[in-house]
Amino acid sequence: MRLYDTLTRSPVELPPPPGPIGIYWCGPTVYQRIHVGNGYAVTVLPLWLKRWLEASGYETKLVVNVTDINDKIYDAAPGASAELAAEATRWYVEDTDRLGLGRPDVEPTAVETVTEQIATIGELVDRGFAYESDGDVYFRVARFADYGRLSGQRPDAVEEQEPNPRKEDPRDFALWKANKPGEDTSWPSPWGLGRPGWHIECSVMAHKHLGDDFEIHGGGLDLVFPHHENEIAQSRSLGRGFARIWMHNGMLQFAGEEMHKSVGNDVTLQQALDRWGRETLLVFFLTGHWRKPLDYSDVTLEAAAARAERFRDVFRGASEPAADDAWERFSTALDDDFNTPAALAIMHEWRDHELLLRALAIFGLEALAEDEEAPAELVELAERRIEARSTRDFDEADRLRARIEGAGWDVRDEAGGYRLVRRR
Ligand SMILES: [Zn+2]
Repeated sequence: MRLYDTLTRSPVELPPPPGPIGIYWCGPTVYQRIHVGNGYAVTVLPLWLKRWLEASGYETKLVVNVTDINDKIYDAAPGASAELAAEATRWYVEDTDRLGLGRPDVEPTAVETVTEQIATIGELVDRGFAYESDGDVYFRVARFADYGRLSGQRPDAVEEQEPNPRKEDPRDFALWKANKPGEDTSWPSPWGLGRPGWHIECSVMAHKHLGDDFEIHGGGLDLVFPHHENEIAQSRSLGRGFARIWMHNGMLQFAGEEMHKSVGNDVTLQQALDRWGRETLLVFFLTGHWRKPLDYSDVTLEAAAARAERFRDVFRGASEPAADDAWERFSTALDDDFNTPAALAIMHEWRDHELLLRALAIFGLEALAEDEEAPAELVELAERRIEARSTRDFDEADRLRARIEGAGWDVRDEAGGYRLVRRR
């Protein structure tokens, strides 16, 4: 299997199974219910990848962190950030559980890793890669020759981050931030009371659970700079290989705009699941290549609902054997940079129930094979409709159909009878 790597800007081959494949994926910052786009970025994509690797014979360990110390949380709940983070973590677990894809192997939090973060910052200071300034600690970007490589910036022309007169160099970034008024959480450290910066949290959680070297580090395209650039600098300065492959997913777009709260198009994962259901939402995510932007709209979601219904229809019909190379074609599509739209197109060709179920199961879509039984009162209406039609009372038959549809079901006439199908 090969995956496109942002760092080398080329596809990189994974070692042969069983690996092991260690994966670190940047998880949510917990201060509100997560966006539907974030649901894809932090849950669907990494869990699908894990499930496919395991179906291919790999051993995997997936770590998705929870960022529970961050400026966004302090800003969202001045004086009560810890309570908000705890509540938003529960929302995150509740909403992503509804996707039915299982959970990552480890879900570390920044709070539980503060001790290790302080130790790592101390090591960076001791080795001259970082310096203390007024209770803050900054990473000295000039000391890391490869800085800027991930985001494709020349080291001497890197964009300034976190403008601050306490820094030696505008490119430097904070590893530790002294406690400020209004910030209700802080920890003692050799540099005084404070809290870790966001970037060091991830470097340390990845190292704690996956060691010096691991295969894949992933996250949204919006994390390339500065977050992941800084993670590489921190970790590699200490002689760690860190991640070998950097995966960055494209952003969900809402009417052509990136999905961000600021432009007023925020749809939460909870709202998306309530409105479309998990099967339609998952099929929708399958239609996009993970590296490309994907348009979230009524039109694209309706199309996904229709695709889901096509799969259900396959299971309502008779199973027909697929071509001998069917699974191989499917597998080749996923092994080539995890091309889910290509795999989806192949799945739509199949009428082989067993094969299709096997493929759907990788994406958590087994439920498409189960036809829901209609409630008894609707079956009775459908029977009366057949009777009405047999006596050519078409007005009554139409009224009965309307009542069935009003209850959220369709009645389909078929050779030898009818079928009740729930509307999705
Ligand atoms: Zn991260």
